[in-house]
Amino acid sequence: MVQYFESQFVKNERLSALKVAKFGGTSLADAAQIKKVCNIMLSDRQRRFMVVSAPGKRFSEDIKVTDMLIACAEAVKRGESGEPEMEAVAERYISIAQELNVPQAGDKIREDLLALLKGTYADEARLMDTMKAAGEDNCAKLVAAYLNSLGEQATYIHPGQAGLLLTSEFGNAKVIESSYENLAELRKMKGIGVFPGFFGVSEKGEVVTFPRGGSDISGAILAAALRAKVYENFTDVDYVCAVNPKLVENACPIETITYREMRELSYAGFNVYQEEALLPVFRRGIPVNVRNVNNPSCPGTMIVAGREYEELPVVGIASDDDFCSIYVSKYLMNREVGFGRRLLEILENEGVSYEHTPTGIDDLSVVIRENQLTKEKLSRIVNRIKFDLQADDVHVKHHLSLVVIVGEGMRNSVGIAAKATAALAESGVNIEMISQGSSEVSMVFAVSNEDSKRAVITLYNKFFQQ
Ligand code: ASP
Repeated sequence: MVQYFESQFVKNERLSALKVAKFGGTSLADAAQIKKVCNIMLSDRQRRFMVVSAPGKRFSEDIKVTDMLIACAEAVKRGESGEPEMEAVAERYISIAQELNVPQAGDKIREDLLALLKGTYADEARLMDTMKAAGEDNCAKLVAAYLNSLGEQATYIHPGQAGLLLTSEFGNAKVIESSYENLAELRKMKGIGVFPGFFGVSEKGEVVTFPRGGSDISGAILAAALRAKVYENFTDVDYVCAVNPKLVENACPIETITYREMRELSYAGFNVYQEEALLPVFRRGIPVNVRNVNNPSCPGTMIVAGREYEELPVVGIASDDDFCSIYVSKYLMNREVGFGRRLLEILENEGVSYEHTPTGIDDLSVVIRENQLTKEKLSRIVNRIKFDLQADDVHVKHHLSLVVIVGEGMRNSVGIAAKATAALAESGVNIEMISQGSSEVSMVFAVSNEDSKRAVITLYNKFFQQ
């Protein structure tokens, strides 16, 4: 049986024949990688649009162009010229351009980068975003120039001119709905469109960036706007794996996974895919295909609305460290109308969001990411729960890790929790808390940070190796 994501959001609209392919930073780190990327584009003429990141690391100690640009903006903020930092960025592009045999493109990029230092910026956030965006922007120009040099019709697209409008939250922008209609116009374009990821413009026309890793979001928005038949996300792995491959050798590859499962796994620290990037494609029912630039014949992982799950009730296991839980107990809490609301209001007043709230009759815990709290904030929250809410007991546990088992099929399979808890007990992992989301797509175990790797490996062995 195929389980479909029952959501009012998913519209199975008629999709067009074109594909949007997004390439990450390591796939564009040097001339050899850029050649591979262009070959991939040219090997399938349905690939009409490519979304590019900024050149990433060529080797493990290397620095991503985005980080070099951030260092440059920091220097300008300190009152320095930023020129040495910008020359280093220009050098990266110039050497790639020379190897691609389009040296004039490299010279033009250098000129444009240095001109950014002469610009005037209303504040530091605007300066920072304009600098950061230059990484993908110039990469797109370079790739378009290279494709042109091969005799291909390829056009650099400026996201702002194409109508990708974003909120003015610098470094953390969100898409404005009208962008989809604006970008749909690009369908009329001939040849290959080369679209830089990571940024758009505000309604005032200022350059604004998404959060880090945001080229995934740009690609998803473009694919959604164009009603692409598939959104291909090229990275450097063959498949998304059922568990972090750094923890388990030969980790099981995932061939098909649902949007919702992927979202749960990304939440719990899966770094394959930018968390926010699923929404635009999922709302239009566009499948996402995660593929490997270095092994383009491998079919990769499909992220879709529904999958057959009988064989595989659990699709993946992940964990994320550094949470804390505030445990609150009060006799007859269950009869006190508004207790939960008032408790959450205390968090709201401190600007803190929560992740889980497992409850008992007279107690409840609130799980929060440690990075949301300072010592002072936490003590204010605890005091208010004690005194304003008259709680009998409030205590805080730190250094927790959330280990998550994810699978659409869990809803219909009996005994998953029993299997998981027995395996954790056998390997001596103490479970601090269990929470199952109402959607029953995931089950969350809080364990201590030190136990988290062991817990993940134990659960993986239990669900995938037996
Ligand atoms: N270049 C940006 C970053 O490093 C965005 C991206 O690669 O997706 O975060």
